[in-house]
Amino acid sequence: MLNFRLMDRGAPQPGDQTYDLIILGGGPGGLAAGLYAARAGLNTVLVEKGVPGGQMATTERIDNCPGCIEGSGAEIGEWMRRQATNFGLKWVTAQVSEVRLGEEVKVVSADGSHLRAPAVIIATGARPRRLGVPGEEEFWGRGVSVCATCDGPFTRGQTVAVVGGGDSAAKESDYLTRFADKVIILHRRDALRADRLNRERALANPKIEVRYNVVVERILGDESVRAVEVRDVLTGERSEVPVTAVFLYVGMIPNTDLFRGQLELDEWGYIRTDGSMATSAPGVFAVGDVRSGATRQIVTAAADGAVAALSVDEYLRARSENDVVTPI
Ligand code: NAP
Repeated sequence: MLNFRLMDRGAPQPGDQTYDLIILGGGPGGLAAGLYAARAGLNTVLVEKGVPGGQMATTERIDNCPGCIEGSGAEIGEWMRRQATNFGLKWVTAQVSEVRLGEEVKVVSADGSHLRAPAVIIATGARPRRLGVPGEEEFWGRGVSVCATCDGPFTRGQTVAVVGGGDSAAKESDYLTRFADKVIILHRRDALRADRLNRERALANPKIEVRYNVVVERILGDESVRAVEVRDVLTGERSEVPVTAVFLYVGMIPNTDLFRGQLELDEWGYIRTDGSMATSAPGVFAVGDVRSGATRQIVTAAADGAVAALSVDEYLRARSENDVVTPI
């Protein structure tokens, strides 16, 4: 019988940590991938700079995730983390500064450490888009926010604005009425694009007013926000809307800066994948909101994660079967 020795695939440097799989990002996509990979017996590390749950962790109530009948988004994120780490996933809190995905063994640099693995799953999600208007930066954290869950409780008894017309704008406006006396949605078109349930709930809420066909031109204030200046896109007329806070829900930007030039991205910067979640680089997979064409829901991100972990398992098996082996 022959003994086999796998050919070396690039010498690790001192201090490098070697795994079967590195997952980047700890939202539902990354955590589901971690659960499946750990259960498949893969030596897996997940690197996340913040808390478990990703964007989900900034939402108070989760209505459209099967079985999530209690717990905030942050709590459900923590339960997902605990479930995966109980099966052996290693969770590392660190900021990734560089990735090298082109080699057979990929290298992820995070907080001075180098992690190495033949497979990587990217689950870095997307971040809230900003308006880019005067006052937005100046009053950031002093009335301008992208997180109703975090800052809503400070708006008790006040009148606040929400910018945007999608699901987030509609849903978070509804949530804000728990605290604020009045929520004014400022939307640039003549209809909300939110799905029927979120739209109807917002429109039926007596504390919510929608102003259509307006764009925010400036955010005004002294110590904190005092008003927003809006322009009517039909008449060109400008006016001030007195509010003490502005919540921005104007869509997302994919977190793909680290991967530019290494992976194929679509025109908006999202990572292209096939049905197995494989990207243009062998051994690199992408899941959830960072993926081109993603539905951007908790359940679909989690489903992507499961598919990607199973694909990684298959990829690693094929890789070891195809390995050049030398008899010892
Ligand atoms: P979105 O669907 O992309 O909506 C962004 C909104 O912001 C749109 O109404 C857009 O206007 C407006 N907008 C974009 N740039 C703007 C600018 N510069 N100035 C003013 N308005 C601007 O984003 P989202 O609401 O964050 O949702 C993201 C994804 O998550 C979606 O797929 C959504 O279905 C999903 N989601 C689902 C739920 C749920 O409960 N099912 C909850 C939250 C999010 P236009 O309409 O004119 O494009």
